Amino acid sequence: MARYEAVIGLEVHAHLQTMTKLFCGCSTRFGDAPNSNTCPVCLGLPGALPVLNRKALDLALRASMALGCKIQERSRFARKNYFYPDLPKGYQISMYELPLAIAGAIVVEVEGEKKRIGVTRLHMEDDAGKSLHEGFPDSDRWSYIDFNRCGVPLIEIVSEPDLRSPAEAYAYLNTLKQILEYTEVSNCNMEEGSLRCDANVSVRLRGAHKFGTKAEVKNLNSFRYLAHALEYEIERQIAVIESGGSITQETRLWNLAAGRTEPMRSKEFAHDYRYFPDPDLLPVSVSAVMVEAVRRSMPELPAAKLARFQSDYGITEYDAGVLTASQDLADYFESAVKAGAPAKTAANWISVELLRRLNDTRKGISDCPVTPHSLADLLRKVDKGEITAGTGKRVFAVMFETGRQPADIIAAEGLAQITDTSAIEKIAREVVAKSPDNVAKYRAGNEGVFKFFVGQVMRETRGQANPQAVNEILKRILSGE
Ligand SMILES: [Zn+2]
Repeated sequence: MARYEAVIGLEVHAHLQTMTKLFCGCSTRFGDAPNSNTCPVCLGLPGALPVLNRKALDLALRASMALGCKIQERSRFARKNYFYPDLPKGYQISMYELPLAIAGAIVVEVEGEKKRIGVTRLHMEDDAGKSLHEGFPDSDRWSYIDFNRCGVPLIEIVSEPDLRSPAEAYAYLNTLKQILEYTEVSNCNMEEGSLRCDANVSVRLRGAHKFGTKAEVKNLNSFRYLAHALEYEIERQIAVIESGGSITQETRLWNLAAGRTEPMRSKEFAHDYRYFPDPDLLPVSVSAVMVEAVRRSMPELPAAKLARFQSDYGITEYDAGVLTASQDLADYFESAVKAGAPAKTAANWISVELLRRLNDTRKGISDCPVTPHSLADLLRKVDKGEITAGTGKRVFAVMFETGRQPADIIAAEGLAQITDTSAIEKIAREVVAKSPDNVAKYRAGNEGVFKFFVGQVMRETRGQANPQAVNEILKRILSGE
């Protein structure tokens, strides 16, 4: 393995977040009754004429700009001809020799190293329908077709063969997904097929300049499959070469159940698409004014937000990375800071306490029972010493479970910090009196046992004693005063 290097390029398809399809007014909603969102245009009936969805074009332009692509003044839709039951027109409308945008790049990070991955092209196309081979009483004899997805707008993003490992491919797809979500171009829901990925994979001896023969691996529709399938395919190709064979240029499918890639039947995938410009659609002409409008509507991108969080809030790159993983989480953090939470504390609590609980309860940040405002309220109380950090965590747990306000919980459960030094001193004296052995050790120079005493006092006060007062009082008592 160490003598070889993998060369990987990804082709990513993403559904655009439009209400209606690419060339007709049918709804794009997922999960509707089969074949309810169809019309003569998306069913490819004779005489029906497509009209380009302006919103889809705007979203595709936004994606192009976010990926640093050069938007072409003129692009053109072409017919990609092939016959398959889920494609009623007999062709897919795509872009071929004149794509919407070219020559972009994104920066990905793997194990602390940043790498620039080229984006060859971005083009628009319409999706095909869906064949249903399972779930019907007569599924052993018949397949069913749902045309709802027919004509749903897609962008295809083709990367340069710049990726060298499954980890880099994973990071690229993750970064791409983050950008498409931030820009609201796509919801990137992989379970619903809104983000799909195919890979071109080849191997070559390390240091070689020529690319090896590549295989296309289809159906990598989850992050986990992507890494597994690429690892499998790379090892397979190396084994073929090592045993004196050669790689066949072919299309392979990731078989999830078997955990391997398998060749597709060649008849199922003929490469002769006989592309030609679609005579029913005008060329797409993108003016400087349109590009400028897209630029103005562009939200802050993940990389810019990551840098700004570090400089504006003084938090680490790691924390900033956690907080900017999604736009919603980043917004949550900024709302909490705006509501008065100290930034570093908020970063810490959100990335540890909050995310852990969201994870445990399988909730997203948008369903979080604790509002940014209540979190800020709690963190201010910790900051001002009204409650200790330990108590804060207990209050937070109740807030998360019940959605109640911190002040209510603190009052109802008597959790306010004990700052009354005479009360702390009384408890500290009792603790010390119970452990003459440890007192002797301390006085003999073993300072380690001091922590034991602090722990005991905190336990007796249910973590509510002011830690600084506990330290001072214990030192005084133990030194024999
Ligand atoms: Zn339609």
